[in-house]
Amino acid sequence: MIDFNRPPYVGKELDYIKEAVESGKICGDGMFTRKCTEWIRDTLHTKYALLTTSCTHALEMAAYLSDIRPGDEVIMPSYTFVSTADAFVLRGARIVFVDIRPDTMNMDENLIEDAITEKTRAIVPVHYAGVACEMDTILELAARYHLKVVEDAAQGVHAYYKGRALGTLGDFGCFSFHETKNYSMGEGGAVLFQKDEYLERAEILREKGTDRSKFFRGQIDKYTWVDYGSSYLPSDLNAAYLYAQLEACEEIDARRMAVWELYHRTLRPLAEAGLLDQPVVPAYAKHNAHMYYIKVQDIDTRTRLIRFLREKGVSSVFHYIPLHSAGAGRKFGRFHGEDVYTTRESERLMRLPMYYTLKLEEAAYVVDCIREFFGFDGPKE
Ligand SMILES: *Cc1c(COP(=O)(O)O)cnc(C)c1O
Repeated sequence: MIDFNRPPYVGKELDYIKEAVESGKICGDGMFTRKCTEWIRDTLHTKYALLTTSCTHALEMAAYLSDIRPGDEVIMPSYTFVSTADAFVLRGARIVFVDIRPDTMNMDENLIEDAITEKTRAIVPVHYAGVACEMDTILELAARYHLKVVEDAAQGVHAYYKGRALGTLGDFGCFSFHETKNYSMGEGGAVLFQKDEYLERAEILREKGTDRSKFFRGQIDKYTWVDYGSSYLPSDLNAAYLYAQLEACEEIDARRMAVWELYHRTLRPLAEAGLLDQPVVPAYAKHNAHMYYIKVQDIDTRTRLIRFLREKGVSSVFHYIPLHSAGAGRKFGRFHGEDVYTTRESERLMRLPMYYTLKLEEAAYVVDCIREFFGFDGPKE
């Protein structure tokens, strides 16, 4: 059986977890949390990064720090994971969904301005499959209308827009280190930001509303309750697991990219024959091989292909059901403009097996099965 995903494990994780245990400190903000944070800062060139317990929590922190209040409107794609919306709904915001572009499955930057009202406070671009949204337009709109930009870069760790790391372009960038993402700590994430003014509140919010972060740095002699807050810091055990992966990021990237390229090269003849569509990576984006998807003719073809692949021992999956079509989506938000692509493209999309240890022969077998499904005997690449 070829799984759809396997959590990454590079080999040093258990040594680092042992080290964390032996250091006598396994709560948050220990040695490995610091190492991960430094890696993120140095590699991705962000001024600040704080590890969190998930990307969902990173988004929640960003919603708090953006001062989202009841009745505020937040613009995002409907084609995304529930957490993108939940984080803002928890603050009482109304979600305004706009359509996606069919080429990248990202929010269509040209539809955002029309969705802006007096109540709009933030734009939330989601970098689907680690392929950047067209950020120049989004950042220009945000500046002109005084809106916050919160990047959902859950899938975009170590991917780039015009040479700048995803997650570092907006007011806040949110990463996921869930086991399904490129680098993992089981459950975890990070929130990134560039402005000094966010640092103190971010640290307080993450440390139960206290100034404990300052206390640990020796800046004050005792810590107290200073504002509202929660507990968004992960255990150093999880950070130890993650650090092994971040250190091995070049190798993880290279292996995922090799699989991605193989899929892309060998599925091209089927795309040229009109049997499926392949992902598009615009020139401004450098992606991280987070995902390989194809789009087939319609939902019925997709259901049959997923079943066919399962019979052949290959696990493939469909992805998001548009949020605006869900009960909560109707309750907490509205779709602005016409849904030309969101529903149609989401129903055609399916994801192929993709993980660090997937072998090229296995990926080639997946492609062979897809050829067989379509009865395609054209060129191999
Ligand atoms: C995975 C994912 C999340 C949630 O990440 P968690 O770390 O599981 O909270 C949010 N948004 C997108 C786009 C994701 O892919």
